[in-house]
Amino acid sequence: MLRITLGGAALADFPTEQASAYVKLVFPQTNSSRPLLRTYTIRHQTAHSIDIDFALHDAKGPASSWAMNAQVGDCILVGGPGPKRLVTQPADNFIIAGDMTALPAISVNLAMLPLNATGFAIIEVTTRADIQTLEHPANMKLIWVIANEEAAQNRDNPLLAHIKALPQFSGLTSIWVACEFNGMKLIRKYLKERYDLPKAYFYTSSYWQKGHSEDEHKVAKSNDTE
Ligand SMILES: Cc1cc2nc3c(=O)[nH]c(=O)nc-3n(C[C@H](O)[C@H](O)[C@H](O)COP(=O)(O)OP(=O)(O)OC[C@H]3O[C@@H](n4cnc5c(N)ncnc54)[C@H](O)[C@@H]3O)c2cc1C
Repeated sequence: MLRITLGGAALADFPTEQASAYVKLVFPQTNSSRPLLRTYTIRHQTAHSIDIDFALHDAKGPASSWAMNAQVGDCILVGGPGPKRLVTQPADNFIIAGDMTALPAISVNLAMLPLNATGFAIIEVTTRADIQTLEHPANMKLIWVIANEEAAQNRDNPLLAHIKALPQFSGLTSIWVACEFNGMKLIRKYLKERYDLPKAYFYTSSYWQKGHSEDEHKVAKSNDTE
């Protein structure tokens, strides 16, 4: 994970209190009129800056490549912010889950839960070194799923496996999940069968798609929504 702080005069008009909202990073293309857009979460905001946490990955993409090579003083176009997708409250208990692309949103959400909130946050990171110290209510148990260790044991979709291992909650559960597209679909199906919840308490979203750029993922996502 690489944190980059964006600031400067252009941010003077940026709305305040936007942590967990998303922005679009804009990458103009020389041979096409349409710029490439990539979606990122505001992890933290001050009066003059926003922090973006980039989950770096091997498959080259404009956003991760830009982040890996960024130098102090570089400029980037930022669109937004878009709406926040907060964990719905109040609820008797909470299940929050996601991978590193959702970790910025999960971090903000955990810090915003009431102090007496109970439940689990299951977070998949690539290695143990990716575990972060997060502010969270004492009874929200954090479960860190280490992808490279799970892969060594040939475990498919470790996030789903850990969600399946959770105890059954009674009362009103608030669910918030964001991760890779195919994984999200499996987790959504499983949780839908296990919990019968009002729509507002059941948020699942895909943040990226294995083998596909964000533009292709957008198409898959919209087909899935239909
Ligand atoms: C609402 C929202 C908020 C998001 N917030 C964040 C955030 O705060 N931090 C963050 O890191 N990401 C976040 N994402 C995910 C991010 O937008 C995608 O990972 C995006 O595809 C990255 O763009 P890229 O230019 O690096 O790669 P692309 O050009 O989109 O894709 C190139 C290749 O990289 C692969 N790829 C993309 N992302 C990953 C990944 N994480 N791991 C492995 N392979 C990958 C693709 O499958 C493709 O093969 C968010 C997505 C959404 C929808």
